[in-house]
Amino acid sequence: MTKSDELFKKAQNYMPGGVNSPVRAFRAVKKTPFFVKKAKGAYIFDVDGNKYIDYVCSWGPQILGHAHPRVIEAVKKACDNGLTYGAPTEKETILAELIKKCAPSMEMIRLVNSGTEATMSAIRVARGFTKRDKIIKFTGCYHGHSDGLLMKAGSGLLTNSIPNSGGIPKDYAKYTLLANYNDKNSVKELMKLHGKDVACIIVEPVAANMGVVLPQYGFLEFLRKITEEYGALLIFDEVITGFRLSLGGAQEYYNVIPDLTTFGKIAGGGMPLAVYGGKKEIMSKVAPLGNVYQAGTLSGNPIATTAGIETLKILIENKEEIYSELDKKGAILEEAYNKIGLKTNRVGSLMSVFFSEKPINKYEDSLACNVEKFADYFNYMLNNGIYVAPSQFEAMFISFAHTTDIIKHTAEIISKYGN
Ligand SMILES: *Cc1c(COP(=O)(O)O)cnc(C)c1O
Repeated sequence: MTKSDELFKKAQNYMPGGVNSPVRAFRAVKKTPFFVKKAKGAYIFDVDGNKYIDYVCSWGPQILGHAHPRVIEAVKKACDNGLTYGAPTEKETILAELIKKCAPSMEMIRLVNSGTEATMSAIRVARGFTKRDKIIKFTGCYHGHSDGLLMKAGSGLLTNSIPNSGGIPKDYAKYTLLANYNDKNSVKELMKLHGKDVACIIVEPVAANMGVVLPQYGFLEFLRKITEEYGALLIFDEVITGFRLSLGGAQEYYNVIPDLTTFGKIAGGGMPLAVYGGKKEIMSKVAPLGNVYQAGTLSGNPIATTAGIETLKILIENKEEIYSELDKKGAILEEAYNKIGLKTNRVGSLMSVFFSEKPINKYEDSLACNVEKFADYFNYMLNNGIYVAPSQFEAMFISFAHTTDIIKHTAEIISKYGN
């Protein structure tokens, strides 16, 4: 029994499945998880003395690599001044300014502690602003675990959704309409039936929680247009794509500007921090200015904002180099996978490898993938010192700390897969 096995066994006595977020349990790859000792740059080290090249990067936040010296130093310094005050600090405004500099659509923002909170709150604002109750989300897009967003398609009718989790009142389902990602007609049909009651459409501009699925040409523009037609708001959930595709996220990359946006992951540089925001007119509905209530004891926390500020500053100062390097490195890995006959979807440093004969353009394509083969691939990579996400339906993240040598070594390991 390894030290990780022992720790995992003990953890299961105290925490459901031994973890604090389900995917960490490695169930989809039929393994017990390794327990982390530390991480530095492109590497993560477990308690058994193993070292892995890390392509999970804490599920996205660590775009600069783990423990970037500047970020760590800033955080250590901030800690000396206390961990939380529950009163305003200048850092919140500095971070807000940086975010607006990166994504000008973020005229006014609110800081929260997780992506879940950000999307939940953005939807509340959309409802408060439009005075409408229904929302449209896409099957296979993930927006955190709040009640109204954990819905799946019911049997038959397009318009029927049902809770995707225990503990959610069935009645909530009537407010969450489900459309299909990359399928304009599914949105048109819902809008025809419910358009005047729809507060917002929320979408991952690049879907990254069913494996990475890119928006097909014109899809995001179409969402922009149809929301305007019906007086609904468009929310881009950029918790993954924000500061990842480009400094300004997917909205800059695809040049489609939503009404409201959520950021998370990279925005906090590895600390629990997320953001929702957008047009001033809409965000002015949030308390204390308006009647849409939303609050947080630790929101805008001085340590989290410090990590976010330092991370964004580094990205801004080096943006040309960072984003072009990340793209080049992504291309090298993509080519390695394609050479051995695997399908990939990629935008910059965000990508997925699919065990499928067909291209992956929608949720059903992703669902049809061979998860047994994925598990075999995952184990092969891990045995060769490379940690990729332990599920077919998660993304692969490259950081700026992944040097060309590390990437080439990874490509080499990939090229031998199946031999
Ligand atoms: C991770 C994620 C969330 C949820 O963020 P948490 O911080 O885990 O609550 C929401 N939306 C998207 C697109 C995500 O990838």
